[in-house]
Amino acid sequence: MTTATAVPDRLDTKALRAEFPALQQLVHGRPLVYLDNAASSQTPRPVIDALLEYYEKDRSNVHRGVHELSQRATDKYESARLRVQQFLNAAEPEEVVWTRGATESINLVAASWGRTHLGAGDDVIISAMEHHSNIVPWQILCQEKGANLRVIPMNVAGELLVSEYDSLLSPRTKIVAVTQVSNALGTVNPVQEIAAKAHAVGAVCLVDGAQAAPHMPVDVQALGCDFFALSGHKMCGPTGIGALYARRALLEEMPPYQSGGDMISSVSFEKTVYNDLPYRFEAGTPMIAAAIGMGAAVDYLNRVGMDQIAAYEAELLAYGADKLGAIQGLRPIGTAKDKAGVLSFEVEGIHPADLGTILDRQGIALRVGHHCAEPVMQFYGVSATTRASIAFYNDREDFDALADAIETAKEIFA
Ligand code: PLP
Repeated sequence: MTTATAVPDRLDTKALRAEFPALQQLVHGRPLVYLDNAASSQTPRPVIDALLEYYEKDRSNVHRGVHELSQRATDKYESARLRVQQFLNAAEPEEVVWTRGATESINLVAASWGRTHLGAGDDVIISAMEHHSNIVPWQILCQEKGANLRVIPMNVAGELLVSEYDSLLSPRTKIVAVTQVSNALGTVNPVQEIAAKAHAVGAVCLVDGAQAAPHMPVDVQALGCDFFALSGHKMCGPTGIGALYARRALLEEMPPYQSGGDMISSVSFEKTVYNDLPYRFEAGTPMIAAAIGMGAAVDYLNRVGMDQIAAYEAELLAYGADKLGAIQGLRPIGTAKDKAGVLSFEVEGIHPADLGTILDRQGIALRVGHHCAEPVMQFYGVSATTRASIAFYNDREDFDALADAIETAKEIFA
């Protein structure tokens, strides 16, 4: 990696940053340096405005009302779904199910598709670098069904061993569920190849896209995955909203996940007929404002440009890796060739919790801990790491400030 070439001025980060009210504040008397985007990104003004507009003008329930407010809310809610469909290049809007986030998307697949397709002795394959959200639902399902959870191992750089994956695959494999980008390491996995190999043995493939969708263009048809999970709050959208992309043919034969209002087309005490896709999977009053806000977030990301974001962030991440790599006693954790969004590390002699607190006092927000990926911590023999995670509104000065603050922490602990 090199620091010699300047980050091309493809994005005007200063102008972009000005659109994020939360980024304008001082924290402990210092300008906020926000490097906790893998946990949750910040919200730009157009998303906040979309939320306000719903609450100030359109506030009402969707789908059931004939009155003006309900129709406006329904139009905006469904138009947000269309925008997510286009963002993912899903074939049709019916393939986009609103959920609370990636966690709920994965649970929906495990509970609905998993319960009907998995039997004793079948295999579920995940990887060594999954978020707990893409481990525990499969573990529970496997316990319930007497199925086996198999894990694709990784090397010390944090890259999946694809040849080991090949040897795990068999006609017993029913689903392969992998993350596209690791939240703990930043590794970008070859999910297109992983999905193709899953299909070759008759399995389906779920891609956990929670950390991919904020950083690179996503095309679920090109990826060839059957399911794709994402979280709005990591993509400049509101909290409490996400989506599950699922191929229509799979959704059509999946039983409901939750039941109640809106997921039915008729109910009598003798019989219930379920609603059409995707409503069959959206029981109850949904997260209307959050979905509308998610539509605005997708518009915002499109305006900045996902290709631009990917190119800009790749160079910024390389700059950050060089900057941090030059600090004596700092060990990077996760050095895969292909990375996005995340730089994890430990600093000799300073516990991550202490480091996080010292950095916070200097206005730097990042995350210390196991990042909901305890098996990754176990693999590297650490209890926690410090993780700097970027968005397109970060710049080189953020890493300069982080490096200076780490040097200050080292002096305190010297
Ligand atoms: N998968 C990955 C890779 C993540 O990083 C996260 C959150 O950090 C999740 C799943 C869960 O996302 P959420 O908590 O938004 O449901």
